[in-house]
Parts: sequence; structure tokens; C-alpha cells
Amino acid sequence: MPAIPNTINGVNVVFAPNVNNDVTTKMVAALRTVINPGIAPGHVLHTIYISSARRMQPAASNHPYGRAVDVSRINGIRIDPGFTDDPSVRAIVKAIQTAFETAPNRRENYGPAFLKKSGALLTTTNPAAYERLAPMHQNHIHMSVDV
Ligand SMILES: [Zn+2]
Repeated sequence: MPAIPNTINGVNVVFAPNVNNDVTTKMVAALRTVINPGIAPGHVLHTIYISSARRMQPAASNHPYGRAVDVSRINGIRIDPGFTDDPSVRAIVKAIQTAFETAPNRRENYGPAFLKKSGALLTTTNPAAYERLAPMHQNHIHMSVDV
């Protein structure tokens, strides 16, 4: 599997220690469509922090298969509390999540802005999953792609 590059469209990609950044070609392609400096008008995205990518847990997720990436900091600022406290972080997170909906093969799009799976809001399609997953995704954006 390809590695997530250290730069995407000029945006620096910083990895948490010990992140296995081997993900599928589709995952890299989807990231390339949403990670760019001008994703949010009036704000500049210069750095994302990937807290996790390919990992073995949870087994019933897309992470073990290299089909998911978690982003927990924007321009060096943690999404929690940045999404609440920092207008720039909030705008960029919203822009990334919104843009990911148009990324090729996008599947799960979970974060503080909303939780969607294959384009549908979990609040309507699966309220039980929403109740379980929403609290876990206030501090990062989880993006995954189809097989
Ligand atoms: Zn995740």
C-alpha cells in the first residue's frame, strides 16, 4: 500500500509517533481532493496532524485495512477545543468534511461538524450509531473510503 505523503498539495502532513501511514490508493486519492491550502475561503491550511491511519483496532472498522485516516489537529491546533474556540479551525474542519463528501470513494465522514456514512447523516439513518460515535469524533475527523 502507498504511504500518505508528507506533503499534500503543499499542505504539510505531520504524523503522530508510530503512525502506520500505509493506506490504500483510494484513501490517498481522497485525501488529495480535500487537503489543500485554500480549502476554506479566508483561511489558510498549512498543516494537518494525522493521529492515526492503519491500525489493528477496532477490528470492525476500516482502519485495519488502510481505508481510514484520523486528523486531530489543524495548523497545529487540536480540533478539540479548536473547533469550538478557534474560528479558523472550525471553518477548515467544516470545509474538509464538506469537501470529503465529493471525494471519490468516500465512505465514513465523522467529525465535529457532522457524521455521514456514504453520504447519509447518521442522525437519520442510524441514530443508535450516531449516539455511540458522535462523542468519539469531537476531537478528530475520521475519513474512510470504500473497498
Ligand atoms: Zn478513525
